[in-house]
Amino acid sequence: MSPADILQILQRLEVLAIIAACIAAAFILALRKREKRRKAGNISKEELDSIRVISELEEATEEGRLAPPEKGVGELSDEELAKLEARVIESLMIKGALRPLMMPGSKEGGYYPEFAGVSEKDAQRVLRRLIDKRLILETEREFSAVACPICGSCIQVALTSCRNCGSFRVKETRYYRHTCGYIGAESSFRTALGLACPRCGGSENIEVYHRRYRCPDCGTEFEEPNIAFKCGSCGSLYDEQTMEIKPFKRIESSKEMLAEYEKVISAVNREIEILRQRGYEVERPASLVGESGVIHRFDAAAKKGDEIIAITSSFGEPLTQVLVRLGVARSDLKLSRVMLVTSDKPTATEMEFARSLGIEIIEAAEASGSPPSRRL
Ligand SMILES: [Zn+2]
Ligand SMILES: [Zn+2]
Ligand SMILES: [Zn+2]
Repeated sequence: MSPADILQILQRLEVLAIIAACIAAAFILALRKREKRRKAGNISKEELDSIRVISELEEATEEGRLAPPEKGVGELSDEELAKLEARVIESLMIKGALRPLMMPGSKEGGYYPEFAGVSEKDAQRVLRRLIDKRLILETEREFSAVACPICGSCIQVALTSCRNCGSFRVKETRYYRHTCGYIGAESSFRTALGLACPRCGGSENIEVYHRRYRCPDCGTEFEEPNIAFKCGSCGSLYDEQTMEIKPFKRIESSKEMLAEYEKVISAVNREIEILRQRGYEVERPASLVGESGVIHRFDAAAKKGDEIIAITSSFGEPLTQVLVRLGVARSDLKLSRVMLVTSDKPTATEMEFARSLGIEIIEAAEASGSPPSRRL
């Protein structure tokens, strides 16, 4: 594939993206029109059915019947997310691992102390981003929480219920054992002065020997009751067969992963410093809206007059993929320069591809402190 071919593909991709956006807009407009007509009262049965399905889906989502629960809407900005990412990496450098803690009485069931005060959704977004960048990985399971299969909440009350008919009126009968060897039902031990052994009269060292359960509704007796849960968030009933298991895993990072991160970040910092010294105003991180309306995200954007330079780093993602994305962003944003900092060594083909797109690849230096090698 020659650079000219690749450019042609990119141009086609751009066209496709615009077509997709137009189709989506047309679809939304059509839906709105239908909704209006439905309100106006003149509508075919077919249209009505499709609207009904959509609104049922919406309701189901609102009630949390289909989608996992929104545990606090993700409200963090890109900048805050980036800061949180840096904080997580810092914690990993110090502690070596993030360990989840149980959180009784909470919807979430558990949390990572590093994410205190952050919604579960945002915490998951940050972890997902770091996993995608291959900077962290989920390792061993520390514990699992029982969660509602309908709404995902971990708030619940556990109830004893009949194994046969599901009644909650199950009664428990205890059998006691005394150190003299006597075993009998609780009633035989009960006296006006408390529990006492009916055989020897001793009141010390009486312990529960076993329990039996009896259902007053169907008369079934059993050794172990069924455990049912009533969700404290949505009110659903579920049991051990239908409960959701929510795993909480340890999060770790290897020394190599963290070293790579430091290398790349310090190279990015160096580039930003150089640009600042040259009088650029630097925004970090930066979200720029292109002509197509698409938002492109970078580690930083440096501006001076009409000139805009985007600086971005890549971890984990294949270099060609990053280059394609940056190529599209560059033409959509009419960027003067695009700098990509990576710790991967680009191949000759990748270098040529980058050159054809006008993207500058900066290899993060092997040893920290030495200047990064620049290639274009
Ligand atoms: Zn029963
Ligand atoms: Zn006794
Ligand atoms: Zn629930």
